[in-house]
Amino acid sequence: RLFVEATLSPGELRIDGAQAHYLIAVMRIKLGEAIKLFDDRTGEWAGVARQIGKRDLILEVTDLLREREAVPDLWLCAAPIKKGRIDWIAEKACELGVDRLVPVLTRRSVVDKLNPERLRAHMIEAAEQCGRTALPALDEMVKLPALLRDWPEARTLFFADEAGGVPAIEAMRAHPGPAAILVGPEGGFDDAERAAIKAHSRAVGISLGPRILRAETATAAAVALWMGAAGD
Ligand code: SAM
Repeated sequence: RLFVEATLSPGELRIDGAQAHYLIAVMRIKLGEAIKLFDDRTGEWAGVARQIGKRDLILEVTDLLREREAVPDLWLCAAPIKKGRIDWIAEKACELGVDRLVPVLTRRSVVDKLNPERLRAHMIEAAEQCGRTALPALDEMVKLPALLRDWPEARTLFFADEAGGVPAIEAMRAHPGPAAILVGPEGGFDDAERAAIKAHSRAVGISLGPRILRAETATAAAVALWMGAAGD
């Protein structure tokens, strides 16, 4: 499986750089071998290895265009956390089947800038590894008050609340349909933010157990529980 940064069309496609190295040295592709190519704007294509060099290869692309993969309708609204861990969240969101990643700036956010290209690269790597053919959409960072103000009425907002909340599985089963999971930053939400979230008509506080989890642990756990309860 290979995500290609190109708009695919039938014909020859030259692959070089890290992707060629991955196919030649890691996947040890053979002449005539078929691989799946993903242009995440249009979906899945097939390619056949026609020429393999030391550092590049030529694929013949045949247009077996298929529909984009449907994933469960789950958004992940996550406060960005320190560098390596937001990358990890993006990777797990992709593997677990999240449809959209919404970075949310909160008052205690330590990180207030993101590198979308780096996050996308981690999602592409995760997609190639897990076989996903469409990447989660990656939104611009949004401040929590704006996120709540513009929240779509039809979508349940499961708020990971270490200070309360209903057991996650119970809450998720009770609220099927389009959903989002909101997780705070390393320092959590402050009291005013917590009150604003809880006052929101579509917010449902969920507990992930009695312990205080790292933001990334809470994120992966909540998404996996939702996929099991209401999603995938
Ligand atoms: N308030 C935490 C503390 O006292 O250390 C700091 C926030 S915690 C490290 C990061 C985020 O993970 C929280 O804002 C919450 O969204 C989520 N979280 C952590 N443990 C949780 C739990 N047991 N249940 C639900 N959400 C949890």
